[in-house]
Amino acid sequence: SDHVLGYPARPEDVDWAEHFPNHSSNAKAPEFADVGCGFGGLLVALAPLFPESLMLGLEIRVQVSQYVRDRIAALRASATDGSFQNISVTRANCMKFLPNYFAKHSLSSIFFLFPDPHFKLRKHKARIVSPTLLAEYAYVLRPGGVVYTITDVEDLHLWMKSHLEAFPLFEIVEETTLRAEGKGVILDAVYNGTEEGKKVERNGGSKYLACFRRIHVGRG
Ligand code: SAM
Repeated sequence: SDHVLGYPARPEDVDWAEHFPNHSSNAKAPEFADVGCGFGGLLVALAPLFPESLMLGLEIRVQVSQYVRDRIAALRASATDGSFQNISVTRANCMKFLPNYFAKHSLSSIFFLFPDPHFKLRKHKARIVSPTLLAEYAYVLRPGGVVYTITDVEDLHLWMKSHLEAFPLFEIVEETTLRAEGKGVILDAVYNGTEEGKKVERNGGSKYLACFRRIHVGRG
């Protein structure tokens, strides 16, 4: 269970140089967080597109997080142009420990891509969108930052959407607006870059996207 995992007490305790030893930019901490990153498809798709930005996947399953670690190491080793130095993964239960990794307003993007179907169950759904968790997402996201959600489960889509919309620090943002801002490459990866997204595609399933902007409040 969670207490046997080592968690940083606070973001300052995370040694990002360990995650990104050969990254050359001035970026100090991750800007993109992929929550429940699975096999890492989003990270791998976005890495070459935003070479100056650091990205962290969080994955609760030991073997899966190890797979992603090995995958990134292999990509780094075979890249001749220094690609993939900007992505990393950690094993973590992100439903509980997001603010332990990410400082206030440090993220520009948070991804919830094809969350597990068990979130369909009422009690689990309540967890991913509880006021406490939404407050945590709003805390780590910078004003103007974006939460991306996508699922093939319509019921879950409607649930996530209604709760995020109801939370005062988030406002829904249309896909067309994001594309007009140049975030089309991110949206394409959200739809098709992950292993789960590809599976849904192969099976001819529907994909329900909902994105939210972290609003600016007062002078803060
Ligand atoms: N986002 C990936 C994709 O689109 O291919 C993976 C989707 S998969 C259906 C959901 C993933 O979330 C699984 O790998 C699961 O282990 C992970 N997960 C579930 N609960 C989690 C939690 N509390 N913290 C971190 N990861 C979690």
